[in-house]
Amino acid sequence: MLPLRLRDFEVVRTIGTGTFARVALVRSKNQRNSPYHALKMINKETLVKLKQVEHAKAEKRVLASLDHPFIVKLINSFQDSSCLYLTLEYIPGGELFTRLRLYHHFPNDVALFYATEILLAISYMHTRDIVYRDLKPENILIDQQGHVKIADFGFCKVIPQGERSFTLCGTPEYLAPEIIKSEGHGKAVDWWAFGILVYEMLVGNPPFYDQNPYKIYKKIVKGEFVMPELISNNAAELIARLLCINQDERLGSNGSSEEIKGMKWFRGVDFAMVVRKEVRAPWIPNLSGPNDTSSFANYPDDPDFFRPASVSVNELFRDF
Ligand code: AMP
Repeated sequence: MLPLRLRDFEVVRTIGTGTFARVALVRSKNQRNSPYHALKMINKETLVKLKQVEHAKAEKRVLASLDHPFIVKLINSFQDSSCLYLTLEYIPGGELFTRLRLYHHFPNDVALFYATEILLAISYMHTRDIVYRDLKPENILIDQQGHVKIADFGFCKVIPQGERSFTLCGTPEYLAPEIIKSEGHGKAVDWWAFGILVYEMLVGNPPFYDQNPYKIYKKIVKGEFVMPELISNNAAELIARLLCINQDERLGSNGSSEEIKGMKWFRGVDFAMVVRKEVRAPWIPNLSGPNDTSSFANYPDDPDFFRPASVSVNELFRDF
């Protein structure tokens, strides 16, 4: 088969944007009735400017190596002189973020449903020594049956148990204290972010919050937060053990998720049924067809995005 090019696709519309990327709903022109896919287009110049070349290469490598019901699947990848392209399965229900802002916070059983699926996805990544490093409601998509799909592997890294990385990356509200303090971090940063996410789903805002990111960091390293009354004792116990400042004492820091699964909040959850998607989702998107994009906002075009990068920039992507 010939290598793919952007013009092999019919572009329906842009469904998402990030710092370096635009994501569009597309369909191949080369096949009749081909399925719709999400095409993630990553601008090469921006990657180089923001020193993210290795992260983009890791995103493709890692996604290609993963196969899990709650992780978005990579179909193929290609590049041209302006962008890297990742063809992904299209996840039509939109971001968990949108659901959360709509309802402000979720009832306990809804938060437990999403948390359980996310826990299994992270645990699967960790058994392969992959640390995700960007868990937040914007990166969790909802599929056609209402199940979770984790997307955006732009910050993931292979960090074997016992080893540490020193790269500063993530989103302020979700950063673990060891990242802020540049102490070196590993898999436990994902369990910290998981604790933030469970809190945000139950309360409606993250535990450490301020308009000013610097003040967020100060609160995180102190580890002081309010546990509102509306959080059940079992959920509060889980959150407190995940939001443990000392990464070596944090729940899950031994490299296994069994301790987390054994917490009282998860009592009654049949993890084998969950991974087979046999637990009914609390919300099932109401879709008009396979190209329904109503769960996604509209984004203006950006013709500059496709301006070819220089020869020296393109050199850096020869091994993509
Ligand atoms: P990303 O840069 O990977 O975080 O993508 C930016 C946004 O595009 C995401 O937050 C989603 O809203 C959307 N998006 C990314 N991948 C997909 C996908 N496979 N299916 C549907 N929407 C996606």
